Amino acid sequence: LGKSLAGSLARMHGATVADDAVLAGCLNEIARALLQADVRFETVRDVRANLQRAVGGLAAGANTRRVLQQAVVGELCRMLGPGAGAAPASVVLFVGLQGPGKTTTCAKYADLHRRRGFRQALVCADTFRAGALDQLKQNAARAKVPFYGSYTATDQARVAVEGVEMFRREKCCDLIIVDTSGRHRQEAALFEEMRQVAEATRPDLVVFVMDASIGQAAFDQAQAFKRAAPVGAVIVTKMDGGAKGGGALSAVATTESPVIFICTGEHMPDLEAFHVEPFVRRLLGLGNLPDLIDKIHEAMPPDDTEDDMVKKLAGGGAFTLRVMYEMFQKLQSMGPLGQIMSMIPGLGAQLMMEKGKEREGQAKMKRYMTIMDSMTDEELDGTSPKLMNRSRIARVAWGSGRLVADVVAMLEEHKRIAKVWSKLPMSKRLMNTNSHGS
Ligand code: GDP
Ligand code: MG
Repeated sequence: LGKSLAGSLARMHGATVADDAVLAGCLNEIARALLQADVRFETVRDVRANLQRAVGGLAAGANTRRVLQQAVVGELCRMLGPGAGAAPASVVLFVGLQGPGKTTTCAKYADLHRRRGFRQALVCADTFRAGALDQLKQNAARAKVPFYGSYTATDQARVAVEGVEMFRREKCCDLIIVDTSGRHRQEAALFEEMRQVAEATRPDLVVFVMDASIGQAAFDQAQAFKRAAPVGAVIVTKMDGGAKGGGALSAVATTESPVIFICTGEHMPDLEAFHVEPFVRRLLGLGNLPDLIDKIHEAMPPDDTEDDMVKKLAGGGAFTLRVMYEMFQKLQSMGPLGQIMSMIPGLGAQLMMEKGKEREGQAKMKRYMTIMDSMTDEELDGTSPKLMNRSRIARVAWGSGRLVADVVAMLEEHKRIAKVWSKLPMSKRLMNTNSHGS
């Protein structure tokens, strides 16, 4: 949370004129950060309104950033201060069409909160689809959370409210997650049902779940849902499913509903907090170094972090063959490979990360590592492209039991990655990320 807020405020600082658009953007980001940190929706709305009020009436030339910063601190203290923790369980209602992944996402959301120390419960209000109840039940078991549902009921709103009230009575949880069905083709009927469920359960937050594969059409869908229900946040699913994710996300962004998470697969951990900037970088093929560095840190034993690749990259040193070798080594020990690869500039797009070809990518890395095993220190650490002349290439090929063409291909690949790498102001970016803290 700290990191996101710091980021929002920093951007505010970066703007030369703190005009209304910048302020609105900043407030949106703060709201998003709070929602991602599971602050109750009403609270977020209040905080937002208070901040707006604090900054809105300022005279031109006043130090908007300073005022906003103080207001944010004040609001957060008020929010986290005494008495704030006594709030009753929040109810989060998941809505959407049929099939985008509401049920799956409910379980992921529950699992994430369990890991964050929340106590929660799942309510299945999908009385329509045969098997819906069992699906959520299994998911609930997997996420280790209590669960309510009925095999015989036909009234969504009724089941929803029974579940919510039961868990409220038992005072056993901080968060009650309600899954609904999106059975109606006709939007009018679906919205009416949604309205009934919302009225019965009085949710703190309505999360609209949508499928990224619809691309730009996401705009109309998100607008329609926003008009019909008090949608407070959006989760875009199936971001792993192809090229349309960017279209969907940008379309949703223009409806000004905060996208809080994206889903990148069918399994529990495939729920990511959504941040605009890293996403845009990835979309542009620029990679997401800060994230990658985080993953590398996670994958490494703590005392191993001293003079390794992270440092080398952070220091902005040359991208030598040895750096590539060490990078492959780390990548071999990290999974899921595909996701990590997609974060490495150049590598992801050009070397291994064709969707579904991770295995080939891994084989390629192993092959290249075998080749590099036959190289001398001088060759591995060399920075001159002329060093690897024909006789050296022939020697390495012979030594590694590979064809000369393989060695040449590896060297070409290295050159290509190094080129992408050199264009990134990496050291700077890494420093920035580290100094923010969280
Ligand atoms: P619902 O009708 O909205 O409740 O959708 P479900 O949760 O039943 O999901 C429909 C299908 O989409 C299931 O097969 C899920 O495994 C799959 N699914 C959900 N989220 C994702 C995702 O992020 N990526 C992929 N590839 N599949 C997903
Ligand atoms: Mg479902």
